[in-house]
Amino acid sequence: MDSIYESGRTGAESMRAVRKRSRAARIRLRRIANAVIFTAGEAIRKRLHRAGYIYNGIRHRSAVGMSRMGIPRMASVLFLAAAALLVISGSIVGVGLQVYVDGTSMGFVSNQSDFENLLTDVENMASEVLGYPYTLDVDVKYQFEMYDRREGLDELEVKHELLMGIDEIEQLYVVSVDGETVGANTDGTAVKSLVDSFLTRERTIDENVRVEFVRNVEVSLEYTDAQNFATISELAKTLSSNIRDEETYTVQEGDTLSAIAAAHGMSLATLQGLNPGVEEIAVGDTVVVNEAIPLMSVQKVSREVYTEGIAHQTEYIYDDTIDEGKRVTSVAGVDGEKQITADVTYVDGKETDREILLEEVLSEPVTEVIKIGTRKKGVATGTYIIPFNGTITSEFGARTYQGSYDFHTGIDFAGASGSAIVASDGGTVSWAGWKGNYGYLVIIDHGDGVQTYYAHCSKLLVTEGELVSQGDTIARVGSTGRSTGPHCHFEVRIDGTAVNPAIYLW
Ligand SMILES: [Zn+2]
Repeated sequence: MDSIYESGRTGAESMRAVRKRSRAARIRLRRIANAVIFTAGEAIRKRLHRAGYIYNGIRHRSAVGMSRMGIPRMASVLFLAAAALLVISGSIVGVGLQVYVDGTSMGFVSNQSDFENLLTDVENMASEVLGYPYTLDVDVKYQFEMYDRREGLDELEVKHELLMGIDEIEQLYVVSVDGETVGANTDGTAVKSLVDSFLTRERTIDENVRVEFVRNVEVSLEYTDAQNFATISELAKTLSSNIRDEETYTVQEGDTLSAIAAAHGMSLATLQGLNPGVEEIAVGDTVVVNEAIPLMSVQKVSREVYTEGIAHQTEYIYDDTIDEGKRVTSVAGVDGEKQITADVTYVDGKETDREILLEEVLSEPVTEVIKIGTRKKGVATGTYIIPFNGTITSEFGARTYQGSYDFHTGIDFAGASGSAIVASDGGTVSWAGWKGNYGYLVIIDHGDGVQTYYAHCSKLLVTEGELVSQGDTIARVGSTGRSTGPHCHFEVRIDGTAVNPAIYLW
């Protein structure tokens, strides 16, 4: 879509010169007085006619399309005889028709029809350039003469002269956009550099940036309607104009961006795209509802390399060791990173397309793992865990305590005061308070006649009736009640009778 420059056959300078010459030749000549007069008999004339060497008289083309046929001219017998001989011999010297247009010689043709066709071509070209049927207004005369075959008529040159003889047509450097002529000037260099300036302002030295016109912009030396002529500054003004100007809307009472978008048949996102940064509107504000479209819209395609995060996935796992309603992150998610190579297209500075060419993962994301608890609170598992991992200072059974026989109904786990005591299994707190020698005591009812005791606590963290799960912190280690130091006295009772907890714990 870049501008294409075509070189013409002649430069601006020589074009002017030719023009002058051609204009001068347009002075209407009377019919040539010294036309060759045929004196040969009808038979010879016919032969020549068959051979295509006879002239057909003077042709006059006027703007109104009038055409008058000339009077037959005669040539001498001698001349014709010589001519016939030369034609047959195939010598470089031949007999042909010298063509005069408005009295100026155009060169030789061998057939009048050749020149007639040339004139038709020129009229067609002129008609195309001007946009209406054009008929040449010239006097054409054919003169039967000897000529050097190597000096035949230069068709392109003659067409050029004829076209340049038309007042309404000039040969200029034409700027066209999508095939439509925008303007034209004689100074090809100035026209090209003007057109190029729309690209150079976007161009960078970065070889990864391609700048081109959105529309098909061309500069070419052409025959064009003289009315297309524009000075370079006029041309600059035209090229800087918009196909469509920016349209704005003034905010009225009660308007919202969504309502304005809907009223203009576009999405809110499109409207926001036209008004970057505009989030709130007030009465009297103007918002763009249609962006300007420059005639010389420039598209920039830039190869860009950048990094982008890769969002991590999240995996959810149901876990029956975690209470219902609780979520535990077991693996923290980490976003990854990738390097992207893309061709980004900007039209008049706004991104319109992004083609991803390459994606390289720099670091893989780490999937976050979240455990979702399904365990019902207060439900016994039937298994038991150590309530406090202290030093066992007294086992279940008969013992001597402070010098006398004693039956120890639990296991003592000694350790630092304030340490956490956890529920050995899930259940319902059936006691949480002071109870004689036990001091501060928690009793958990696990159902089916099974209860666990946690005694001598310094602090109770549950209340009666509360549902607890296995592992929940229920109290702090202490030395309340009949105790000689901080420890957790742990009991398991079946239907009220203390049994050896060791059977359940290990
Ligand atoms: Zn004890």
